[in-house]
Amino acid sequence: MNNQKNDVNCGVTDCAYYSDAKCTASRIEIGGKDATSADATCCETFRNSGNMVNSCGCSAKGGQTEIKCHAEECKHNSELKCMLDGIDVSCSCASCDCGSSDQTFCASFKL
Ligand code: SF4
Repeated sequence: MNNQKNDVNCGVTDCAYYSDAKCTASRIEIGGKDATSADATCCETFRNSGNMVNSCGCSAKGGQTEIKCHAEECKHNSELKCMLDGIDVSCSCASCDCGSSDQTFCASFKL
């Protein structure tokens, strides 16, 4: 269970790891140690691509991302791992031109 892979649907189109509505990173970290709502979480792995989609050239496909999650208040969190098969990551900026990970969040967070 410790190396569980998750399917990360992602709407943060200007992230270097974004490709076709999926996260292609092999491992991500979700932040928000004391978060009690989704918007207090963030994807700490976000890397601004400068609007070049999948500029990291990652080859991983959906369903292969290991999640370390610091949002321990979330009901899906067990020992810093996400127990869901898949999560949705999104961003709060209107144009999805995220300058930093602060604007991203895990939309699957639940108390
Ligand atoms: S659903 Fe919960 S445990 Fe899973 S990544 Fe999102 S905040 Fe973390």
